[in-house]
Amino acid sequence: MKRRILITIIAVGMIATLTACAKGPCKAGHTWVEATCTEPKTCSVCGATEGEALGHDWSVNTPNFQQAKTCSRCNETQGDPLEAEFAKKGLAVETEWDKEFTFTTPCYNDKSKTTNGKYRFSNLRIAASDDALGLETAQGYEWLIFDLICRYDDENVSKYGYTGVFNAGMDYYDTYRNPDLGTMFEPGKTDLETVDRFTVNYNGEDYPECIFLWGEYTDEWNVEGTTCISQHTIYIRIPTGYDGIIVSMIANGSDVIDKINAGEMPIDCLDDKCVNFRVVPE
Ligand SMILES: [Zn+2]
Ligand SMILES: [Zn+2]
Repeated sequence: MKRRILITIIAVGMIATLTACAKGPCKAGHTWVEATCTEPKTCSVCGATEGEALGHDWSVNTPNFQQAKTCSRCNETQGDPLEAEFAKKGLAVETEWDKEFTFTTPCYNDKSKTTNGKYRFSNLRIAASDDALGLETAQGYEWLIFDLICRYDDENVSKYGYTGVFNAGMDYYDTYRNPDLGTMFEPGKTDLETVDRFTVNYNGEDYPECIFLWGEYTDEWNVEGTTCISQHTIYIRIPTGYDGIIVSMIANGSDVIDKINAGEMPIDCLDDKCVNFRVVPE
């Protein structure tokens, strides 16, 4: 009897061992998950590893204005993107479409008087190509077309008129590369193939086919001569999604204009009376 019990116990013990063997989670092979930047090749079942983590692939090794140093595999970033020149200078920037702001300029007939224009940037149109301009859009670019509209309706404008503003186009990010943008443009009269191009860097890539055009300007007085509405259309060809074009407004008669005319970089002259509108596609 005693012998029989012993045999049974051994048999049970053997079965137990065999069962543990069959249930070994990776007996038929590990379930490998490929190595990543930070983890080696790893079994998702038992956690076994093989080899080493790949390490990050810093394809954007030099940060640009939009991107910090970035791993091309996992998109981890290090540090910050380059700081825009306008931000470095601490210059205030408007971005809101249709926001009205008052801008004071001298009157036309009596420069000692001023008039307050109510300005707004408005009517943004985005065009992947623009047949009206007679120019095929280059691959990777789009046209932004918008209006700078102003209403003058105070007492001084009806008595003395207005002198309007001086506009300057600049690149928000890399202003010293593109200090003063803009070509006067008359649809149908200006040969777009020959207008000046400028280059912006977007996501680390240079786009040399950018165009900035000061287009049609109109101003209309009401019959009584008390209110004038002016409208200036601006055309910009830039990389799709680029948000770095600035249109600055400088009061006529301001010494900012004298400095620019004397050869100073516009960004170095702008004062806190200037309005800098940053064209951000909605
Ligand atoms: Zn495993
Ligand atoms: Zn990585």
